[in-house]
Amino acid sequence: MRRRTFLAASAATTAASLLPQAAALAEGANPLLAPWTGPYGGVPPFDKVRVADFAAAAEAAMAQELAEVDAIAANPAPPTFENTIGALEQSGKTGDRVATIYSIWSGTLSTPEVREADKALRPKYAFHQDKILQNAKLFQRVDAVYQARETSGLSPEAQRLTMIRWNNFVRNGARLDADAKKQLAAINFQLAAYFTIFNQNLLADETDYVLYLKEADLAGLPADVRGAAAEVAKSKGRAGEWAVLNTRSSVDPFLTYSDRRDLREQVWKTFYNRGDNGDKHDNNAVIQKILKLRAQRAALLGFPTHAHWRLANNSMAGTPEAAMALMMRVWPSAIARVHEEVAEMQAIADKEGAGVKIAPWDYRYYAEKVRTARYALDMNEVKPYLQMHKLREGMHWAAGQLYGFSFHPVTDVPVQHPDVTVWEVRRGPEHVGLWYFDPYARAGKRSGAWMQAYRNQQTYKGKVTTIVSNNANFVKPAPGDPVLISWDDAETMFHEFGHALHGLNSAVTYPSLAGTQVFRDYVEFPSQVNEAWLPTHEVLSRFAVHYKTGKPIPQALVDKIAKAHTFRQGFDVTEYLASALIDMKLHLAGDADIDPDAFERDELAKLGMPSELPMRHRTPQFQHIFASDSYSAGYYSYLWAEVIALDAVEAFKQAPGGLYDKAMARKLHDDIMSVGNTIDPAVAYRNFRGRDPDVGAYLRDKGFPVA
Ligand SMILES: [Zn+2]
Repeated sequence: MRRRTFLAASAATTAASLLPQAAALAEGANPLLAPWTGPYGGVPPFDKVRVADFAAAAEAAMAQELAEVDAIAANPAPPTFENTIGALEQSGKTGDRVATIYSIWSGTLSTPEVREADKALRPKYAFHQDKILQNAKLFQRVDAVYQARETSGLSPEAQRLTMIRWNNFVRNGARLDADAKKQLAAINFQLAAYFTIFNQNLLADETDYVLYLKEADLAGLPADVRGAAAEVAKSKGRAGEWAVLNTRSSVDPFLTYSDRRDLREQVWKTFYNRGDNGDKHDNNAVIQKILKLRAQRAALLGFPTHAHWRLANNSMAGTPEAAMALMMRVWPSAIARVHEEVAEMQAIADKEGAGVKIAPWDYRYYAEKVRTARYALDMNEVKPYLQMHKLREGMHWAAGQLYGFSFHPVTDVPVQHPDVTVWEVRRGPEHVGLWYFDPYARAGKRSGAWMQAYRNQQTYKGKVTTIVSNNANFVKPAPGDPVLISWDDAETMFHEFGHALHGLNSAVTYPSLAGTQVFRDYVEFPSQVNEAWLPTHEVLSRFAVHYKTGKPIPQALVDKIAKAHTFRQGFDVTEYLASALIDMKLHLAGDADIDPDAFERDELAKLGMPSELPMRHRTPQFQHIFASDSYSAGYYSYLWAEVIALDAVEAFKQAPGGLYDKAMARKLHDDIMSVGNTIDPAVAYRNFRGRDPDVGAYLRDKGFPVA
C-alpha cells in the first residue's frame, strides 16, 4: 500500500473548469490571466509569475467564470449538449491556468506570502464553486440535457460527461427546494468549523507531547535515529538531549528499534491516545457532531446514509456494501497472518528469555528481529545500485516498451525552479505532451511525492496536448555526486510516473474526462500497476547499475528483495483495514448517537481484531475522514485500487510475453490508460480483463492464504 503518495488534489480540475472566456479582461496587466504561449501549444509562463499577482488574478478569473456561466444559464435558445454541457467544458479556462500556477507555488515554492494568499483565497474559492453549483437556471438546462441524453443522438462519451456534470450538481443539492438548500448550506458551514476543530485538537496533541531522553534511554536505537532525535531536541532548545515527537515519523523508528520496553509502551500509548485524552483537546464530542451532521445531510439529499451518498455515482465500488464485501473478503486472511506473525515473534522473545507476551508496543520491535533473522536483507547494500537518474531512464524505457513513448529533453521552456527538467514525450514522430520533473526537496515544498497535471488533454474544439509533472523530495547531492535512493523510493518513482502515464496516454474528447480525473477508488490503479515494471529483469539489468562500477545489481540481491516483499504484511494490511472498516461502519450507522470510543471498541471486538496491534488511525485521530469530507467512507479506496492493480499485473504475468507482452500492453492502453473517465471503470476493467477483478492476486502478493 502506498498511502503516502497521493495524486495531488488538482485545484485546476475542479477550480477552473467553471470559468468563461467571453468576458473581456485586461490581460496585459496581469500575466497570469493571459493564455499560455510558446511551443507545444503553449507552456506555463513560469518566468512571469509574481506572487503579488495571485489574488488579483484569482479574483478576475472567478469573475470571468461567473460571467461565462451566467451567459450559459441565460441563453434564450433551448438547452442542447453543445450550448450547455459543451459550453461548460469550454468555460473557466483562465481559472484553470491561474489555479494551476497557484497550486504549483503553494505545493513547491511556498513562502509566507504564498500562504497568506492561500488563506485569503480558499474560502472565496469555495464560495465561488457553491455559487455555480447552486445556479438554478443553469441546473435546469443541465437537467434538460441529462433527461434527453439517451434520445438526443449523443455519443457515449458525451452522455457520460452529461451524467457526470449533472451528478455533480445533484450531489451538491441542485434538486432541493429553497428551504432545503438553506439547510444544506448551514450543515456544510458547521461541518467546516468542526473539521477545523478536529484538526486543531490533533495538532495540539502532536505538538504538546514530547518525550526527552537521556543517553541511558537510547539503547537499541541506530545512529541515524539517534541523530534525528538529537536534532529534534536541539530544535526544542534542549541541546545534548534526545527527543521523540508525538508524530508517526518520530514514533515508528523508536517503536522499531528501542530496547527499552517501558519507553516503547509510553511512546505507543501517548501516540495512540491523540485526541482521546478526555481533556480540552479530546475529539470524541467533535466526531459525534460530524457524524450527526453528515447523516442529516445524506437524509436531506435522499440517501440512507453518508456512505451511500459518498459512493453513489462517485466510485467504482458504487455502494458501501460492495466496498464492505471486498474488505471482509481480505480481513480473515489478514488477521490469520497476524496470528502467525505474533507466534513467530513470541518464539523469538521466549528464546531471548524476555519474559513478555507480545503487546502492541512490541510488534514493530520483534518484527524487526524476525526481518533480520529471516531475510538477511540489508537495504544499504541495495542503494548503490539505485541512482535516481538511471531509474528515471529506466521508467522512460519501460514506457517506451509498453506505450511506444520516447522522451526528449527540452530546454527552451521556462521552469519554476532551476532544479526542474522538462521532457517532450513523443510516439513515433507525434508530439504527445510534456513531462516536468521536479525531484529535489527544498524549503517551501510539501513532503512526499506526487503527480500533477498542468493541462489536460482534449480534442473538443481543437486538439490540446497534456502537460504533466512528477514531484519528489530527494536530497540534492553535491555537484557531480550521484543521487542514490532507496528501493521504496524507486517504487514510488514508478508509482508516480504511472499517474503521469495515465495523463500522457489520455485520448478523449472532453477535458474534464481526461487522464487521471477518474473516481477516487480507481485513480491509484494505473499508478500501482506501473510499479510492477521496476523489479523486472529488463529494467534492473539495464538501469539498476552500481554508481561506481556500472555493474548491474546481483540477482541474489534482487531475489532477497523479492523474498522480503511479504514481510510483516499481516500487520500492515490489518492496521489499514481496521481503519477502513471502522470508517465505513461509522458512516453506515445513520442518525444513531455514536460514542466513538465505545463504537470502535465494540466493532473491533466483533471483527475479531487481534489485540497485538492497533488501527493505523484510531477514530479520534483519523484525519482522512474527520479533517474534511474527502476520504470519509472512502478509506477503503486504497485496497480497492490495489486489488485491481495486482489482478491486472497477474494478467500480464500469465501472458506469453510476461510484463512485456505486446498484446497485453495494447489492451492496457486501449481499455484503461487512454480512456480517462469516458467509460464506467467497472466496464473498462471488464473490457481489459474479460471479467471482474478477482482478489486472489492480491492475497497471493501479500503472502496470505488463498481460500
Ligand atoms: Zn498514487
